Amino acid sequence: MHKFDVVVIGAGAAGLFCAGQAGRQGLKVLLVDHSDKVAEKIRISGGGRCNFTNRDATPAQFLSENPHFCRSALSRYTPQDFIELLQRHDIPFHEKHKGQLFCDRSAEDVINMLLAECDAGQVTRWQSCSIKSMFCAEQAGTASYKIESSRGLIEAPQVVIATGGLSIPKIGATDFGYRIAKQFGLRLVEPRAALVPLTFEGDSWAPYAQLAGLALPVKIETGPPDATPKQRKKAVVFSEDLLFTHRGLSGPAVLQISSFWREGQPVRVNLAPGTDLSALLLRAKATSRKLIANELASLVPSRLADAWVSEDPALQRPISDATDKALQALAQRLGDWQLTPNGSEGYKKAEVTVGGVDTRDLSSQTMESKQPGLYFIGEVVDVTGWLGGYNFQWAWASGFACAQALAAR
Ligand code: FAD
Repeated sequence: MHKFDVVVIGAGAAGLFCAGQAGRQGLKVLLVDHSDKVAEKIRISGGGRCNFTNRDATPAQFLSENPHFCRSALSRYTPQDFIELLQRHDIPFHEKHKGQLFCDRSAEDVINMLLAECDAGQVTRWQSCSIKSMFCAEQAGTASYKIESSRGLIEAPQVVIATGGLSIPKIGATDFGYRIAKQFGLRLVEPRAALVPLTFEGDSWAPYAQLAGLALPVKIETGPPDATPKQRKKAVVFSEDLLFTHRGLSGPAVLQISSFWREGQPVRVNLAPGTDLSALLLRAKATSRKLIANELASLVPSRLADAWVSEDPALQRPISDATDKALQALAQRLGDWQLTPNGSEGYKKAEVTVGGVDTRDLSSQTMESKQPGLYFIGEVVDVTGWLGGYNFQWAWASGFACAQALAAR
């Protein structure tokens, strides 16, 4: 029997950070992962440079059935705290866009830092090590967990589940955390793929498939098909780049909105934000003899203008011959393009999972569940950040809150 103060299951961002913090506070910590490598998601994140936090992170950039749950942890471990940790480890970084911080060299810097913190906390790491079963017996009124692993039986009074969400199964994602939650009677918020490209039905997408590779800045939102102006006013709108693909839409704008999108709902895209297309087309009509496609190409990317106009024979003419109504309709459609995805690229391509362990069964101060001594941190919890470093900030903040609570017991 291997005895520890704490067993952390899952050596990803949250698990590594929490284990190091708990070990540094004098706890005897075991960190296990079924994979032989640690933190594969950190390694591939941010195009290999890891967007490790966002300078401007606030609870407003997180989705959850309970949007207030993340407040406490985020306020107790801030982006500045993580920046100071990187600085103590002499890791160079830079801001790229909208507060997003990336490593100058490589994501390996963050992984090596987390491993060094674990070493400093004398954390024992077992990899690869799979968990076969886990149960809890009460001993003198306190919980005692018995965990059957591929390296033998483990006993500990406190267990932290940090096994993440379902995205990218190829690098080790499993539903382990959800199964453990269910085993101990905790509720789950239905998980779904998020920060993921959206796909469209083949025939309806055919006219746009030729635009694959085209990227442009847009405004994007989603909501019910029959949304009222009031509902639309309240909708979350992202101003980011959109990328056309052979199967649908991707790029930061679409990844962001995918977290909010529900099956059957349209996405609404302004393909020319900040441009009064209607006024500019009507002005061109008064002075130009160019084809509509050519005039439009001075306002939006020419590939988009060509594809758009080629769909409608009434638009294949000099702009001076077009009716005002036709030009206004063209402007309206480009400014409020509504299209309904038939799905997403799924967990294979998703950066995160929305949903997870229901926060109603967790303490926002400690991450401990209703099951005494059992904690959940990171992406396995129903807290999901926007694109832009927020998900790692949640991993650090929830891991920190948990480590403080573990040490205080
Ligand atoms: P994970 O990092 O997923 O770690 C979970 C760990 O648990 C893994 O090591 C896994 O092997 C282990 N595990 C799973 N099942 C078991 C089991 N049954 N037994 C034992 N161990 C198990 N977020 C950002 O903030 N910035 C970015 O730049 C960014 N880029 C991303 C790019 C990609 C391609 C992807 C997929 C995600 C990206 N994310 C990014 C999201 C971010 O990686 C995750 O939100 C974050 O890693 C979650 O941390 P976690 O520790 O909860 O889970």
